[in-house]
Amino acid sequence: MRPPEVLRRASAYLARHDVESPLPTAEALLTSVLGVDRAGLYTRGQDLTPGEARAFGRALCLRCAGTPVQHMTGEQAFRRLTLVVRPGVFVPRPETEMLVEIALAELGEAPIVVDVGTGSGAIALAVKDERPGATVFATDLSREAVELARWNASRLGLEVDVREGDLLFPLATELRGRVDLVVSNPPYVGADAYGALPPEVRADPVAALVGGPALYERLMTEASSWLRPGGVLAVEVGADDGETIAEIFRPSFDGVRIEPDLAGRDRVVVGRRR
Ligand code: SAM
Ligand code: GLN
Repeated sequence: MRPPEVLRRASAYLARHDVESPLPTAEALLTSVLGVDRAGLYTRGQDLTPGEARAFGRALCLRCAGTPVQHMTGEQAFRRLTLVVRPGVFVPRPETEMLVEIALAELGEAPIVVDVGTGSGAIALAVKDERPGATVFATDLSREAVELARWNASRLGLEVDVREGDLLFPLATELRGRVDLVVSNPPYVGADAYGALPPEVRADPVAALVGGPALYERLMTEASSWLRPGGVLAVEVGADDGETIAEIFRPSFDGVRIEPDLAGRDRVVVGRRR
């Protein structure tokens, strides 16, 4: 069978198993199995070999059982970048691209930026890519995340200083009071909501998902002491958490606003250090 027919059947199979975006999913998995790009799928005149067909069948089964596509392809697009991802580190989500957009709009040409809880490095690397004059730091509590973020930085040739540890504590003390932007997509799923998440979300580490207001409060307190007066704190929030997090920011930050995502849900809270 040729790839276009294989894709048609695979996509119908994924749809029957209620997998989201069946055709793009089938394309991503077949692209990865055959080692071609998407256009190559449609121009390849040969049938799949038995080995390729078996590997593709296995990938479809894993996806139906809840394995994220990105754990099989090993990559995720994020703004202009293709990041390497792997199990054990949070896979960047498309909604976080908006956090980067909002953060960039607040920045001058040569800002000092810190991405707290960087995971694969997504936010920090996108900022460095799109604002090359920035000096960018990133932190994460997870050793695996730090290693992956460093690997992504080196493969992409983007200079980001990635440090292991809690919030902003790994930074050199000379930076206190000098940072222009603290940006973060912290864990914000409530412990009670965790069990109800779909399996592909629970494939991310628990420490990357489960958190909430107490962590934002600590982040806000720390960020206030590292930001310069007028420096910006921009965070991603859960769909119903905008007002709760904005309230936490208001005592120390000016111009606190909640930005909705494309679906109209709360997504980002931004404020300026007084
Ligand atoms: N920024 C990445 C992104 O948007 O794709 C990853 C976001 S993930 C939702 C949250 C990340 O924060 C995880 O990598 C987790 O290890 C890290 N983290 C959780 N608590 C932290 C803390 N107290 N200090 C630093 N990093 C933390
Ligand atoms: N976006 C994740 C979800 O799908 C949550 C990410 C986070 O906790 N920052 O629920």
